Amino acid sequence: KRKLNEHDVPEAVGDKAAKGAPAKPTFASLDLDSRLLQAINSEKFAAPTPVQAKAIPLALSGEDVLARAKTGSGKTLAYILPILHSLLKRKATESKPAKQTTALILVPTKELASQVTVTLQTFTEFCAQDVRHENISRKEDVAVTRSRLAENPDIVVATPGRATQWLNQDVLKLVELKHLVIDEADLVLNYGYEEDLQGIAAALPTGVQKIMMSATLRTEVDTLTALFPSGGAKPTILDLS
Ligand code: ADP
Ligand code: MG
Repeated sequence: KRKLNEHDVPEAVGDKAAKGAPAKPTFASLDLDSRLLQAINSEKFAAPTPVQAKAIPLALSGEDVLARAKTGSGKTLAYILPILHSLLKRKATESKPAKQTTALILVPTKELASQVTVTLQTFTEFCAQDVRHENISRKEDVAVTRSRLAENPDIVVATPGRATQWLNQDVLKLVELKHLVIDEADLVLNYGYEEDLQGIAAALPTGVQKIMMSATLRTEVDTLTALFPSGGAKPTILDLS
């Protein structure tokens, strides 16, 4: 597995810290569930990347986030970790935790869906009992998908096309959704998924947190914010490119 090189991770601030500059971010300082920190440690990731250091606290606070950061900068964990943390917290503290899917991760291709699924597997290593996830981006018989979704996965990974198909067939249910992620948002739009996104947006309950990640984001920002308006506050736009 490719690890980021030193060039990609934040530089040590050294004596700057003494002059009041913010200290170098650590995963421990992000206040993540200990089971997630355990997984991070076993991956030997020394420190969060810049996009992770910025996006994780924002996402944990419930804000909508739109982040632009170059390929290889660690955007997957920047949304997976806060979603897993929030999910584990709700399961531990709520008397009636959601019974249906609470996070939908949309990606442009089924290859990327498989990659995200592998990352989910890796980072739920120590909480696998508490987190169920399904990749429904493959073409398969509706009965198969229906049975996989019948077990109420907490997290569903899909292309917008498949998500729309299962949504229309009433197999995928978004009534309890809390987080919507659009990864590689520029590609999702450029691949012509805008109409599917419209349908998905219409099926969302109120108050869903939206997290969008992309290597490039220009005019797409307007399209995305129009499709998925943030109630009240505007999404925080992080530009790390
Ligand atoms: P992006 O989506 O921005 O292109 P990825 O999320 O695919 O980037 O991550 C790129 C690579 O960096 C992956 O192999 C991932 O395991 C690794 N990685 C992610 N976060 C860290 C980190 N904090 N420290 C070291 N490696 C990391
Ligand atoms: Mg990515």
